Amino acid sequence: MSSQIDHLLNEDRRFAPSEDFAAAAVGTADLYHQAATDREGFWADRARELLHWQTPFTKVLDWSNPPFATWFEDGELNVAYNCLDRHVEAGNGDRVALFWEGEPGDERRVTYAELTDEVKRLANVLTELGIGRGDRVAVYLPMIPEAVAAMLAVARVGAVHSVVFGGFSADSLRARIDDAGAKLVITADGGYRKGRVSALKPAVDLALADRNGSGVQETVEHVLVVRRGGNDVDWTPGRDLWWHEVVPAASAEHEAEAFPAENPLFILYTSGTTGKPKGILHTSGGYLTQAAFTNRVVHDIHPESDVYWCTADVGWITGHTYVTYGPLANGATQVMYEGTPDTPHPGRWWELVEKYGVTILYTAPTAIRSFMKIGRQVAQQFDLSSLRLLGSVGEPINPEAWMWYRSVIGGDRAPIIDTWWQTETGAMMISALPGVTETKPGSAQVPLPGITVDVVDDAGQEVGNGNGGLLVITEPWPAMLRGIWGDPDRFVETYWDKFAEQGFYFAGDGARLDDDGDVWLLGRVDDVMNVSGHRLSTAEIESALVGNEAVAEAAVVGASDETTGQAVVAFVIIKESYLKAHSPEGLAQTLRAWVGEQIGPIARPRDVYIVGELPKTRSGKIMRRLLRDVAEGREVGDTTTLADTAVMSVISAQVK
Ligand code: ATP
Ligand code: MG
Repeated sequence: MSSQIDHLLNEDRRFAPSEDFAAAAVGTADLYHQAATDREGFWADRARELLHWQTPFTKVLDWSNPPFATWFEDGELNVAYNCLDRHVEAGNGDRVALFWEGEPGDERRVTYAELTDEVKRLANVLTELGIGRGDRVAVYLPMIPEAVAAMLAVARVGAVHSVVFGGFSADSLRARIDDAGAKLVITADGGYRKGRVSALKPAVDLALADRNGSGVQETVEHVLVVRRGGNDVDWTPGRDLWWHEVVPAASAEHEAEAFPAENPLFILYTSGTTGKPKGILHTSGGYLTQAAFTNRVVHDIHPESDVYWCTADVGWITGHTYVTYGPLANGATQVMYEGTPDTPHPGRWWELVEKYGVTILYTAPTAIRSFMKIGRQVAQQFDLSSLRLLGSVGEPINPEAWMWYRSVIGGDRAPIIDTWWQTETGAMMISALPGVTETKPGSAQVPLPGITVDVVDDAGQEVGNGNGGLLVITEPWPAMLRGIWGDPDRFVETYWDKFAEQGFYFAGDGARLDDDGDVWLLGRVDDVMNVSGHRLSTAEIESALVGNEAVAEAAVVGASDETTGQAVVAFVIIKESYLKAHSPEGLAQTLRAWVGEQIGPIARPRDVYIVGELPKTRSGKIMRRLLRDVAEGREVGDTTTLADTAVMSVISAQVK
């Protein structure tokens, strides 16, 4: 990828943390030194310091059978005990674990003592239903405290959860239930989305509808249903149970049994941005160590004083690691919000920040860009002065959005951490430490202490500073995936075959090192375009487009082209005010020229399509492969993980 055009590297803005922030920060420069001296010893120290082990481990990493790693193998712990009971035992039972806010404005404050009590009762219910070590439980719930309780209760009895987004269809749910062979489904009648109840139970009923003749063996024995939406539901006696009938009636006495560190904790399907979702398997001790550590040092958690808010749904990995496991292992207080950001008004999130005095906010670039689109005046109606740290995850955050986030939301005061990681990595891998690193808009920057990454060429050779290539992880890490559920071959093929000789994990993302050695993410390797022999990254061109004042959002793909091999095709959303004042042809012309000036003539899009929306996964990521189908005039591929399935027909029509 050496012929890539340097563009993002021209960024020269730098932001050091304030002295006060640095002085009080949990993560210090010393962590890098410790990890560099003795990486395994470093992780062993973190595991001992951050977690309670019922049986202490004596082994740290076993990498004798790559790519199958074990961490802390002979240690035993209970994940739920670590997230709950021990905080109560330490006298913090009255601390609020969750400030929960429903979309209609109803609220619940759940303390650590209350959450522990609920999880113990639910654990007893699970045992009565025959759920024990190794059994799989599907969780299909809205963002309500019961979702967190369900995950922890499953973990507490040594079973394995598979959380499925509440927004997924019956078909997607069924595929996930079948793949994991779930014995129990935990769901709700419905939850609030966009101002009304969106039903969930009917999708479960449909997923489990008579399968005679389908060739699939029914594994589900029970469906446990939380009442949230109040909507009418069908009932299958014997199979279905109401949470509010069985959980409060169960005993609140429950001893947390110790399970081996490598006991499976959960299966989670990737977002499906690039293809069919993969059932990623994570285990207990290593995962919880890295979840707790990264949450503590990157989010700079001070559990006594912070009010932390990660806006992710528990249905994706960010919700697993940074709503449920990391913050609760650290005994933090957090906000959990059920609904959509713009219901009932576009300032809803900022109202919540003001109401709860949120100090740390962790969200995705897609959300930031949508707030930019509606304008700063919405956020500025609220008092955001409590915010002291901002985070980003999920996609590259373009410098334009980074600067907006910093000035409008962070008051030019709060450091921004751009955290690169994946469902597969389980926890953050590349990010600034907010009290240490001088941050750069648009760059995820440096591997965290104890993590080793590199950027290499196709042959696995380091590209060196100033060059682009493929992002790899060079050594095993505690929260690494242990496999793809039921498919060890796909696990090896997808992540390890490419650099088998070097033993590197292939992340599937393109990246570049700048002259300081900082990492810039360039987008998916699958999406890299080859125009007349030049390799161009989606992130760079999109970033240039969003840098134009008329553009709210942009997605770029490479479409086959007779003369250049591939041509750049851009799909852009134009800000309301510009749409009124300019013709689409004029805008397209301007933007083609703009990209040419910003990056170089080679990057100038062949086509610029002005669209109303972009196809996104439920976790808010742009699905470029669907746009490529449109750009190449093909039938649009698998759209099951798309948030809004109608959007592709709208785009196809707009393009024609
Ligand atoms: P699938 O693997 O099914 O295509 P997915 O990769 O979108 O789905 P996730 O595990 O949710 O599923 O996302 C991980 C990916 O998100 C990373 O590989 C990377 O492409 C992108 N990503 C996450 N955080 C960042 C970040 N801070 N900067 C740039 N890219 C990021
Ligand atoms: Mg992926």
